[in-house]
Amino acid sequence: MFTIAIHGGAGAVSRQTIAESEDPIFREGLHAALNAGYAVLEKGATALDAVEAAVRSLEDNPLFNAGKGAVYTKKGIHEMDASIMDGSNLKAGAIAGIRNVKNPVSLARKVMEQSGHVLLSGKGAGEFALKVKEEMESDDYFYTRLRYDQWLKVRHTDFYHLDHIGDETPDRKFGTVGAVALDQHGHIAAATSTGGMINKQFGRIGDSPLIGCGTYANDETCAISCTGHGEYFIRAVVAYDVSCLMEYKGLSLKEATEKVMLDKLKKMQAEGGLIGADAKGNISLCFNAIGMHRGYRKSDGSSYVALYGDE
Ligand code: ASP
Repeated sequence: MFTIAIHGGAGAVSRQTIAESEDPIFREGLHAALNAGYAVLEKGATALDAVEAAVRSLEDNPLFNAGKGAVYTKKGIHEMDASIMDGSNLKAGAIAGIRNVKNPVSLARKVMEQSGHVLLSGKGAGEFALKVKEEMESDDYFYTRLRYDQWLKVRHTDFYHLDHIGDETPDRKFGTVGAVALDQHGHIAAATSTGGMINKQFGRIGDSPLIGCGTYANDETCAISCTGHGEYFIRAVVAYDVSCLMEYKGLSLKEATEKVMLDKLKKMQAEGGLIGADAKGNISLCFNAIGMHRGYRKSDGSSYVALYGDE
């Protein structure tokens, strides 16, 4: 038994906000990422390898707010956050405010395996990227017309927002990306990658690179990757909270994810979603927003890709 699940952001994802012509392109991107992760699992590699492969595919896709296609900060640059965690040994790696790295999730993995630390940020993270010869790209590589136009509209304000909330133009794109997986050896892993919030200031860091908030994995409980308004997800320590409900209260993955997303976060008026996997092969794709780009593929032949809340 093995399985992979992914998300590409939750928020105002509806048939009103996604053009009919764009709908299949998003689904194609989600299928491609699922297949990239699944191929890794199928040949017997680890859940860690699979979540990295799936997230890399989403980072390379300009439709999503991670890697190419990341949103702009107030200063008009890209500062990306990413993290990865191995449920078999509780090892984790993360980077925050990184610039010019093509695949931030892969650098997060190198932080875990080669730095002796868990979280590197800003300039130091950049120095580490050069040291480990991470693949770098020019600023131009990260440019997308849509993200640039989104930034132009708000750059003179102190307003910052999710790339997928508050802008009802039909051509807007969505999302932070993430993956969770169970491998053939019974281990689980999680990874998350993002450009963060549009027009973010002052070196703002979201939940995505924070272990326990946007990402968590423990074979004994679950692997979780989150998307939504990071400030709330940090305060609610979302990913670890799901794990704790399973560990200390004996809740199932479904019960724990629903308790956190549909009850606790909803009461805080925090909009978003998460994906979860456990070592038994269960998957949860849970959100309190209108929709979430999401999908899974399992070794029993079942698979699913969806964007809107009603499918
Ligand atoms: N959680 C991300 C952040 O706050 C944003 C997102 O999920 O789109 O940086």
